[in-house]
Amino acid sequence: MKHACKEISRLASDSLDRKLGLWEKLKFRMHLFICVNCRNCDNNLKLIRNALDLIEKTKYGQARLSDVQRDQLHQTLKKNTGC
Ligand SMILES: [Zn+2]
Repeated sequence: MKHACKEISRLASDSLDRKLGLWEKLKFRMHLFICVNCRNCDNNLKLIRNALDLIEKTKYGQARLSDVQRDQLHQTLKKNTGC
């Protein structure tokens, strides 16, 4: 993993917990535009976060992913590695 990619993967993770600054956001977006690995990593993180949020919001963790969400999660995780 390139040094820039390590920084971008950290920003991808941070962006789920806080609003990125202007410079961070610009650097992040520009890198995602040119790097498919980081784009996939960002998509995976968002997908996992959304799945976890869905489960957390459901009383007693009895939520079920829809077929579309399950397929999307499965395909994305299957297609992408190295995140
Ligand atoms: Zn990258």
